[in-house]
Parts: sequence; structure tokens; C-alpha cells
Amino acid sequence: MPLKNQYMKQQHTPRRKFLSDLSLAFGGTVILSSFGRCQSKTSPASTSSANGGKLGIALVGLGGYSSGQLAPALQETQNCYLAGIVTGTPGKEKEWAEKYNIPQKNIYNYKTFDSIADNKDIDIVYVVLPVGMHKEYTIRAANAGKHVICEKPMAVNAADCQEMIDACKKANRLLSIGYRLHFEPFNMEAMRIGQQKVYGKILTINADNGFTWGNDMSSWRLNKALAGGGGLMDMGVYAIQAARYTTGEEPAHVTAREEKLRPDVFKEVDETVYFDLDFDSGITAKCMSSYNKNVSRLRADAERGWFEIAPAFYYSGQVGNTSNGPMNFDNNFVEQVAQMDDFALCVQQNKPSKVSGEEGLKDMRVVDAIYRSIASGKKEKIV
Ligand code: NAD
Repeated sequence: MPLKNQYMKQQHTPRRKFLSDLSLAFGGTVILSSFGRCQSKTSPASTSSANGGKLGIALVGLGGYSSGQLAPALQETQNCYLAGIVTGTPGKEKEWAEKYNIPQKNIYNYKTFDSIADNKDIDIVYVVLPVGMHKEYTIRAANAGKHVICEKPMAVNAADCQEMIDACKKANRLLSIGYRLHFEPFNMEAMRIGQQKVYGKILTINADNGFTWGNDMSSWRLNKALAGGGGLMDMGVYAIQAARYTTGEEPAHVTAREEKLRPDVFKEVDETVYFDLDFDSGITAKCMSSYNKNVSRLRADAERGWFEIAPAFYYSGQVGNTSNGPMNFDNNFVEQVAQMDDFALCVQQNKPSKVSGEEGLKDMRVVDAIYRSIASGKKEKIV
């Protein structure tokens, strides 16, 4: 299974107080990423009074990420809880109901999903399905009156992302993307150092993310309709994110090329993609995504120093260094707990998520331009 290799297996540790950790991490100052804070307003969720006012989340799709990371994290969240599930596999209904004490009335399949509109226990729907299904289920959830978290990558292209954003706006519901690293201390430190120009202006970034695909030929990740693409969609989006959140700037152009060493496996989707992002400020981010190399690294070289996280994008185990010494943070921090608690708070306080649909859209504009550049063999504008 790719996931076993894809990310380091996480040891689940007791939840720590996220805000106090943050405060410590940044010397008492909680920084706000320039990526945060969208403008639109929505009406608050119809918070159920059960479970101490926590908002109810329903996970849609009970595969590796839901069962391995999100459901365990939802046992530690303070602002939300695992209230329901949506699955097409009847065997999972009983297993999950028993394990997580989920009442039958909060269990749906893909046919009955729309009737979730009538369920007051569910405030937020979390879409954890193959990428090609993200748009449909995000829009159906919003139309059912639910706030939505959608996993990364947001959709198969930027046009679909826009449709999802429009549908959530029309339904007056909040939309967030599962960008957990915006809540992970080492990556937050990279945002702080980079955006606040602690070592002066950043000159170059290197961001690489990949794992070696095994022998699974039946995965949806190899199917273009379901995955939208290969390593670039799955792993490359982390490198794009890292380049954007480390600089706090948007890339203007991209030059990309593809390498395929196992064409028998990667018949429909990309295997390894190298892409250089050019920023108008003069920064270049040299990035790579791969289903053929084990790598997880973010490095920035600036005028007066450098910083690096490697591994950077795993669920845990980050190691960070700077030209000024090591980064000292908890690398067992469960960022999914912080991510979901933050979104629940956004819903409760009627304020947009810092990892909104617009964030996902910006990344998919880059992905679209990368695929255009691979096809044309030229530098392409990101539009
Ligand atoms: P998975 O293959 O383990 O699970 C996919 C789930 O979708 C399964 O429960 C499967 O039964 C269900 N499904 C429904 N219709 C399907 C269909 N037509 N074909 C295949 N599966 C179907 O995948 P996963 O690793 O859990 O990934 C799910 C989503 O989560 C993806 O968007 C992925 O990119 C994202 N993800 C995010 C992270 C992260 O760190 N944020 C990590 C892993 C996965």
C-alpha cells in the first residue's frame, strides 16, 4: 500500500495545548501567516448541544487517511468530534460504529449521503475520497447545508476548485482544505522565518516530496480520472505549498519536465516531475514530486542564512535546522488535531479558515501550469 511508504507512520501522542505551544514556539507571539484570513462571512453552524458544544464531523471515505490519522485525531480534538461516517463498504459500518460509538442514524452510504441535510448532529463534512470525487462530494455537502473540509489536492484542476468555492459561497458554508502543515510547528517556523525575512530576502528554495511506489497496480492513484494526475497531484502539492508559504509570495511562471522510469506502472499518471517556480521578486523554487524517490525536504537559502526541514512533510518526525542552530519543536505534534479544531473554531466564530478553498485553488493553478509546461516544453505563465 502506498500510504505505508508515503508518510512516516505516526505514533499517536496525547494532545498538547496548541496555542500555548505556538506561543512558546514564537516567543509569546502568535504569528498570523499572510496566507490566512479570508474575508467572507458565513452564518454559524447549528451547533448540537450534545458533546459539550463540540461540532460533529462526518468523514466521507474510510480509507487509509481517515482510519489511520483523522479518526484517531478526532478522539483528541476539543472543538469537534467524530459524529458520523459515509462509506460504500457495509462491513466498515459495524466496525466503525463499535470502535467509535457512532449511532446508526449517523451512518450513510454514497446513495443516502444527501439526506445528511436533515441530521443536526453533523455540522462539518470531511471529504477524504479519491481526488476525482472531491468536487462532487464537496458540492453535495454544501448543498446539504454542511461546512466542508476537503482533502488535498483540492480537485483535478483549477476550474473544478472554482466551482467548489462558488458552491460553498452560494450555500453560505465555509470550505477548508486538509493542509495540515499550516498547523505543524516546524513548517510554521519556516513560514515565520521566510515571511518575516529573518535571514534577509530569500534567494532560492528547494522543495522535494516523493516516495517509491510498490507493486500495487490496482490503486486509484494510478487512474487519471480518479487521481487527476500522479506524483505531482499527490506529493507535489506539498512542494508547491512549501514554496508559497515559505516565501509568502505567489509564483508567476513555471518550467517543468517529466521523467518516467516505470512506464508500465505509470501508464496514465506522472511518475516524477521537476518544476522550477519563478517569483516576480526574483526567488526561484526548484521543486520535485515523485512516485519513484523517497524524499521529503524543504530548504531556503537567504541573504544572511539558511533553514531546512528534512523530513519536512511527514505526519511526524520533522527535523529542522538553520544557519543559527537547530529548530526545537515537538516533532510528534498531531497537526490534524490542531487543523480540525481550528476549522471547528472558524465555524463557531463565523470566520474563514486560513487554509480556505482559495488556498487549494492557488495550488491547482500552479499544477495546471506545470502540466501545460510539460506538454509545451516551455516556461508557462501561472494563471
Ligand atoms: P485510500 O485509497 O486509502 O482511501 C480511499 C477511500 O475512498 C476508500 O475508503 C475507498 O473505499 C473510497 N472510495 C470511494 N469510492 C471510490 C472509488 N471509486 N475508487 C476508489 N476508492 C473509493 O486513500 P487515502 O490515502 O485515504 O486518500 C484519500 C484522500 O485523502 C485523497 O484525496 C488523498 O490525497 C488525501 N490524503 C491526504 C493526506 C494528508 O496528509 N493530508 C494523507 C493521505 C491522503
